[in-house]
Amino acid sequence: MAAAVEPLLQKCATLSHIKQLQAHLITAGVFEFYPSPRSKFLEFCATSSAAGSLLYAADIFRHIAFPVTNDWNAVIRGLAQSHQPADAVIFYRRGLRVLTCKPDALTCSFTLKACARALACNEAIQIHSQVVRYGFIADVLLQTTLLDVYAKSGYLDDARRLFDEMSKLDVTCWNAMIAGLAQGNRPNEALQLFTRMRDVGFKPNAITVIGALSACAQLGTIREGESMYNYIKSQNLDANEQVCNVAIDMFGKCGYVGRAYRVFNDMKCPKTLVTWNTMIMVMGTNGEGLEALKLFDQMDKEGFQPDNVSYLAALCACNHAGMVEHGIKLFETMAEDDSVIPNIKHYGAMVDLLGRSGRLNEAYNIIDSIPIKPDIVLWQTLLGACKTYGNIEMAEKASRKLAELGSSSDGDFVLLSNIYAAHHRWKDVRRVRDSMKEKEVKKVPGFSYIDIDGVIHKFVNGDQSHSDLQPIYQKLDEIKCRIMEHGYVPETDYVLHDIGTEEKQNALNYHSEKLAVAFGLLSLGTTSPIRVNKNLRICGDCHEVMKLVSKVYEREIIVRDRTRFHRFKDGLCSCKDYW
Ligand code: ZN
Ligand code: ZN
Repeated sequence: MAAAVEPLLQKCATLSHIKQLQAHLITAGVFEFYPSPRSKFLEFCATSSAAGSLLYAADIFRHIAFPVTNDWNAVIRGLAQSHQPADAVIFYRRGLRVLTCKPDALTCSFTLKACARALACNEAIQIHSQVVRYGFIADVLLQTTLLDVYAKSGYLDDARRLFDEMSKLDVTCWNAMIAGLAQGNRPNEALQLFTRMRDVGFKPNAITVIGALSACAQLGTIREGESMYNYIKSQNLDANEQVCNVAIDMFGKCGYVGRAYRVFNDMKCPKTLVTWNTMIMVMGTNGEGLEALKLFDQMDKEGFQPDNVSYLAALCACNHAGMVEHGIKLFETMAEDDSVIPNIKHYGAMVDLLGRSGRLNEAYNIIDSIPIKPDIVLWQTLLGACKTYGNIEMAEKASRKLAELGSSSDGDFVLLSNIYAAHHRWKDVRRVRDSMKEKEVKKVPGFSYIDIDGVIHKFVNGDQSHSDLQPIYQKLDEIKCRIMEHGYVPETDYVLHDIGTEEKQNALNYHSEKLAVAFGLLSLGTTSPIRVNKNLRICGDCHEVMKLVSKVYEREIIVRDRTRFHRFKDGLCSCKDYW
């Protein structure tokens, strides 16, 4: 019977065809007495591209006197694949109340897939316990789907538990787990799992190494990155363009722009627009502005039409190269030359570019001219520029706008209070401090980490937990003495006003990145560059200290903060003191 329905279904292209066939099946008694062709019909109806057919299938289900599990599964499957996968979960719950429908492994699998798409983790947890109750938990497909939901929705502990309990692991599982851990800010675990996967004899594929590379990029440590890339080459996985793109990005994020360029140059597969964009962005964010702009011209010559990402990368590069006029020209002609309409990020780059060169009025006008509602970041960028140029009037304007937009970032308040402090306007500093308290703005605690021989050491401001505290603080004192001989004066403006001068100096002295650098000087060989990752924006005092340390100790220091790389060498920083 089911086979007889098949050819008729193939002829249904519209909802009205489907309804005609349904009428025929009802008359022939198929709907009432033959569940198997009925389920087939429902499955077709629920997954057909004919407009309205999915809702119609759900409606038919409601009118079947004694629906069977396959009828139910057919509709859940259609809903799970639709634009509103959450409806599949609702439909699943409704079916549970129908006596003739008993969930099977497929019912749970379709519903869990819907949860994965809708990122409905709470629902997935409930279905997980039902899966255990129904005795389906040994089903590998179900386990994999569950793992996928947990990993994608960031429930990494649940995903990990499930993963560790799974008796059979196929590569899909490894990939889901490694990618989940990398995206969930647990790069060390992701890399450990990658090693384990190889140890137990699974062969990583392109998807696995993309997850692992992005874990390396997050760690910003070249050792893992380099060994991962060597592995990729040995397995010929670098013949995949996406792998190369992620590798370029990874080397860039580790601060090795030359290494990134080598991957770009040595690619065995054709470059794509994404490849060019990634390389230009890497150059730009690593302070190689001129090289980035050369690449931007070259991509055009090689027949790649720049898109909005290319323009953004080029504008960022202009920032780093201080090429203001060039940036303005790119911005003004992008729509005409390449039909790229500026979006909020391009506007942001322009505000940064103009602000960086002190053209604050023009930056203000740019924000003012944006047809869409300007976002908070633009005003924050302008506020940052006001700090650099000590423009109180513009800073107040920007702060008012930020308040109007409901920003409650501690950074904005601290910036404004620092601007006042630099001009000794203590009353205003106090006012900003009070409004911070009133609005209950909390300071995000700063931390930095540094990799020493494959072990990640984390420091918080004024750290008291590291096992080598005494030598680290001694080293910091030594650093301070040596750089003071080279003219260092602590910039206590960066500390809130209501503590004494000595306390301010201490608070500054023990910023997490300074502790990490002191530890780096103690622990790394005399020539290795010191690489530090920091969760917040580096403060002005730490920036000055890093510059001097790079000169006095003849050591390259790379600090990756929340927004960019700072490469300190011979007393200068690649950001040209603007960040
Ligand atoms: Zn600092
Ligand atoms: Zn810098």
